[in-house]
Amino acid sequence: MKMKKEVLDQIKVQIGRVKKAGGFYAERLKDIDVDSIETQADFEKLPFSEKDDLREAYPLGLAAVPQEDIVRIHSSSGTTGLPCIIPYTKKDVEDWAELFKRCYEIAGITKDDVIHITPGYGLWTAGIGFQLGAEKLGAMAVPMGPGNTDKQIKFMEDMGSTVLCATSSYALLLAEEIEKRGVKDKIHLKKGVIGSERWGPKMRARIANELGVELYDIYGLTEVYGPGIAINCEYETGMHYFDDYLYFEIIDPKTGENLPDGELGELVITTLQKEGAPLIRYRTHDLTRIIPDDVPCPCGRTLPRIDVILGRTDDMVKVKGVNIFPGQVEDVLKDIEHASSEYQIFIDHENGRDKITLFVETPLKDEQEIKALEKEIKDKIKSVINVGMIPKAVEIGDLPRSEKKSTRVFDYRY
Ligand code: ZN
Repeated sequence: MKMKKEVLDQIKVQIGRVKKAGGFYAERLKDIDVDSIETQADFEKLPFSEKDDLREAYPLGLAAVPQEDIVRIHSSSGTTGLPCIIPYTKKDVEDWAELFKRCYEIAGITKDDVIHITPGYGLWTAGIGFQLGAEKLGAMAVPMGPGNTDKQIKFMEDMGSTVLCATSSYALLLAEEIEKRGVKDKIHLKKGVIGSERWGPKMRARIANELGVELYDIYGLTEVYGPGIAINCEYETGMHYFDDYLYFEIIDPKTGENLPDGELGELVITTLQKEGAPLIRYRTHDLTRIIPDDVPCPCGRTLPRIDVILGRTDDMVKVKGVNIFPGQVEDVLKDIEHASSEYQIFIDHENGRDKITLFVETPLKDEQEIKALEKEIKDKIKSVINVGMIPKAVEIGDLPRSEKKSTRVFDYRY
């Protein structure tokens, strides 16, 4: 995508600010003279940054403003070592609310809606972002946070919630519980705003059908405000994002080279207006592509689009010499009748060879039918992904559901 002149100017201002502030980016960009960045190509030569770098700036090394201008911090979950702390100024918090409000509007949500928020509140950005946007829009927020299914369903009934905000796995869990309790006629949900993680069309269809709602994928990450920086409209042509606040690039995750629009790669984000912790060429490790704009979205918005997140670049595993990506498995399963959207991939090393076991949930009970299903999965995986897997059908509900993000691949080889 061609970078607009004003975007390059905004980025240069940001780079000037982070260099002046000292801290992580001043160090990373110390050999770069801002005035020497004159073209998109110059910009694309700047070094990347990523989560591990930000972690090293712990606690407040990312701040590009004096501490008295910081009104809040958030922190993204680190599985190991130090968390990554993101400082926000008043303007950052207001901008985030604005972005989130726009997302709700793109999803057709209005001030008359009751927004039921199940993502967690606290140091991470999930719940509070959904809340900020709801309040800015003027809708009624029901700040549930995760867990306590009984209370979730009671509040949905009694508050008349019309919008459910959740991860896909939690939305599925709630859909199953509502079905099980036979209270569907007391639930007034019309739309689901689902935090973007990899979830295939099949899971989407299940949640949409069981809850009777329209679904919207919302994208974001704590390092870049939080959720609320991109969302699909009703035409589902990818997620619109806000190019007055953010500059998106797609790179080859292996070589770091910029890829043309339409090609699948890693999303890299540069913030254009963030004050507390601006980011320059931040590698998200999220796999997507920029949707070419030769076919405009029928909704009439001229905002650029990225595809739904197809997974994490880190999830790519090499097995038997083949790069496998959970999304590919999901795409195969979606065309197989009786295979549910829930699956897990176990990779092991036995007798000097890699072995891949694919657990898939199915409603089938008959042993012969289950055998036939397993064979169908095995053959399709082989023909589409060109790798041998051993499918094992299990009952619906056997694979663990989580309130956070589902893990699909378990690699026990190392
Ligand atoms: Zn659209």
